[in-house]
Amino acid sequence: MWSRVFRPVSVTPCILMRMASSTGSGKLAGKVAVVTASTEGIGFAIARRLGQDGAKVMVSSRKQANVDAAVKQLQSENLSVAGITCHVGKAQDRAKLIQETVKTFGGIDILVSNAAVNPVFGPIMDTSPESWDKIFDINVKATFFLCKETLPYIKERGKGSIVLISSVAGYVPFNLLGPYSVSKTSLLGLSKAMAPELAADNIRINVVCPGLIKTKFSQALWKSDAALEKTLEGIPLRRIGEPEDCSGIVSFLVSDDASYMTGESVLVTGGRSARL
Ligand code: NAP
Repeated sequence: MWSRVFRPVSVTPCILMRMASSTGSGKLAGKVAVVTASTEGIGFAIARRLGQDGAKVMVSSRKQANVDAAVKQLQSENLSVAGITCHVGKAQDRAKLIQETVKTFGGIDILVSNAAVNPVFGPIMDTSPESWDKIFDINVKATFFLCKETLPYIKERGKGSIVLISSVAGYVPFNLLGPYSVSKTSLLGLSKAMAPELAADNIRINVVCPGLIKTKFSQALWKSDAALEKTLEGIPLRRIGEPEDCSGIVSFLVSDDASYMTGESVLVTGGRSARL
């Protein structure tokens, strides 16, 4: 039975809390998911898919207007979502994201860490200390600390699942995106290092490595016909991916269908092969 409940909760300007109820059925029914950087692109598609599969989802990104728009859209699809601003590089924001999720939905079962930055293009040997710091602070350290912030709540549920969004660049570094690529390789190592410790609490951690997916983040590689043609040469399926090509994989990984998978990574690349 589809029904809709709107509950504006916010007292601070940076929080938007509106909820809509979902069907309560689906393979993720009864689960609560947090997805970072989920107002656009791959993160938005993941939030939508987890919601469609029955989870209650906390959407987040840095800008209130983006959070408002994403929540409004997902609510209009009768999905059970709430939203809050969170810059993953800010410890206070990470804490607020997790606390508000628990307050709103009563716990957390699933974390999808999706946010990343890439402030520099160029030869890796030209990378400044500041650029290394920014890339590792957001792409790697914030991911770790967000996991750490979330784990006590997942533990309370008796089991749960984390998915980190890395990249095919973590396997085969992209030209002129060396530091970004190294940060994405680090996420593979991070999941391998965390998996055994988390397994003791029945918590799984896996990684999704998208190839080229059609979002703002990657538009330099597909926006012009010339760029697209060159890009497609390296993709056996002869198309660039859509965010929805990633979201079903994430939903699978956080579901019981993947209950015996942890410390694993899945490449979603249209057939581009890659190995470390
Ligand atoms: P996108 O379409 O550009 O979306 C970026 C999202 O991240 C927006 O919702 C943005 O909203 C939010 N965001 C940006 N910085 C943030 C921060 N510091 N804290 C919280 N939210 C932030 O990007 P995308 O292509 O979907 O990328 C998502 C992930 O997939 C990234 O980890 C990326 O490395 C990975 N990936 C992408 C591709 C690809 O081809 N697109 C390939 C491999 C891997 P606000 O502006 O409101 O913050």
